[in-house]
Amino acid sequence: MHDHRRIGRELDLFDTDPLMGSGLPYWLPAGAAVRHALEEYVRDVERRAGYRHVYSPVLGKRELYEISGHWAHYSDDMYPPMDVGGEQVVLRPSLCPHHALIFRSRGHSYRELPLRLAELGGMYRSELSGVLGGLTRVRAIQLNDAHIFCTPEQAADEARAALELIRRAYAAMGIRPARYRLSLPGAGGKYVADPDMWRRAGALLAEVLDSLEVAYEAVEGEAAFYGPKIDVQIADGAGREATLSTVQVDFHQPRQFDLGYTGPDGTRHRPVMVHRSIVGSVERAVAHLIEVHGGAFPAWLAPVQLVALPVSEAAVSAADALVRRCVARGLRAELAGPERGTLGARIRDARLVPYQAVIGPREAADDQVALRLRDGRRIDPLPAAEALARVLALTSGHGLDLWDG
Ligand SMILES: [Zn+2]
Repeated sequence: MHDHRRIGRELDLFDTDPLMGSGLPYWLPAGAAVRHALEEYVRDVERRAGYRHVYSPVLGKRELYEISGHWAHYSDDMYPPMDVGGEQVVLRPSLCPHHALIFRSRGHSYRELPLRLAELGGMYRSELSGVLGGLTRVRAIQLNDAHIFCTPEQAADEARAALELIRRAYAAMGIRPARYRLSLPGAGGKYVADPDMWRRAGALLAEVLDSLEVAYEAVEGEAAFYGPKIDVQIADGAGREATLSTVQVDFHQPRQFDLGYTGPDGTRHRPVMVHRSIVGSVERAVAHLIEVHGGAFPAWLAPVQLVALPVSEAAVSAADALVRRCVARGLRAELAGPERGTLGARIRDARLVPYQAVIGPREAADDQVALRLRDGRRIDPLPAAEALARVLALTSGHGLDLWDG
């Protein structure tokens, strides 16, 4: 496996600046293109799975986190409050409290449940500067988050469906979980004291894992303070594990925020919150993608998906026209002309680009494209429109195969 920091620099994906601060990377255009493709994929998958997207602010009043329980159980990881006009506001350590308030802002009938609120939102973690590096330990996190408000009877199905979305996303990204972990509470005052709640929520998640026949390890001391989690663990080259995706069942925050819905009997009932993240934080997801693929991202994620390589000056205008057609159809395409060196050198420079279109005099005259694939395969010349349509079908299908023939 590769070091994502080295490749991130070599491929101009992201960087840091001491004036922005450690643990606060910025994304260069190539890295932003990867991130954007990942975010677009996640939002699309969520929309199709019945999620509704919201936006909420990255700041909240201190009282909000006192109610949620973060202040009592999680303040070590939070930034100190800021005094603003006599009020204390904090950078949020998670999105749950905001989503609980959004749910609470409107009356709900059981007919609307499960209500799935999703957001790719910012949150902040007060990491010490000694442990920061690259994209894996950061102070500003963009989380692919969602909270499903549902009846207790719906919670297991929702958790199961979320795990299936995770599996599908991993297949599209070409990554594999190192293991599944059922994260349970441990000793100490970190966890909300309610043994019955922990038993119910833990049993529910174990049942979900069993029903999907997923092998997992139950580990104490890794739960969220409000509830147990299914954590999908990934490992780096050194075997160090981190949690990427998670599915959690929470009976605590609905009670803290006094959430309710009207049941079929006309009385008020308490919903359950299922917290889930499909790809985790975009920082960690992209770091892992870089390490697993060594910069050769699946075509749908590649910063540049197609490079046009005119054999000589005479083919430059045809290559340029091809790039423009690609860009107009939504592909990320670039021209690498003769001023960048010999054809061989340009092909070597483009070795991470999934599709390389070599344009010689014949291709230029006939509006054809001879594609070379990143994996070394060569495709016989095709009419440009057909080559383009096939590349688009492959990239928009989020598959790993570079060709369908
Ligand atoms: Zn949450």
